[in-house]
Amino acid sequence: MSTIMTQAGFDYAFDYSHCDDCAGRCCTGESGNIFVKRFEIQAIAELLKMDEKPFATEYLVKKGYKYSLKEHVVGDSHDCIFYSREMEGCLVYEARPQQCRTFPFWDYFKKNLQELKDECPGIINA
Ligand code: SF4
Ligand code: SF4
Repeated sequence: MSTIMTQAGFDYAFDYSHCDDCAGRCCTGESGNIFVKRFEIQAIAELLKMDEKPFATEYLVKKGYKYSLKEHVVGDSHDCIFYSREMEGCLVYEARPQQCRTFPFWDYFKKNLQELKDECPGIINA
């Protein structure tokens, strides 16, 4: 079975077999935002069996009118609060936000392909 994904409108492809040995570079590294909408907050809180309010206090940070997942600093990396270095994976994978599900096919990367290639070893030019 092929591990290569493409998406209409994007002139690169993504080989997700690289995720096995990449140690979550898209969930760590430079500080960034993983924005979450209400339904995504509810889904993660439900997975963690938490009420929304304590969940928001513990895991979310307000950025303007939006909410983003918090980060925790490990060395010089800003890891997503849900990234586990021990498990080398996402602790809320089944309920991960849309922004994570759609990576690496973000419109932003159409014009910033080198930035994406520097971050993700699974990117191949189609
Ligand atoms: S950076 Fe790319 S290869 Fe690494 S885990 Fe993320 S999507 Fe997979
Ligand atoms: S929610 Fe999961 S997949 Fe998304 S950035 Fe955080 S650790 Fe990575």
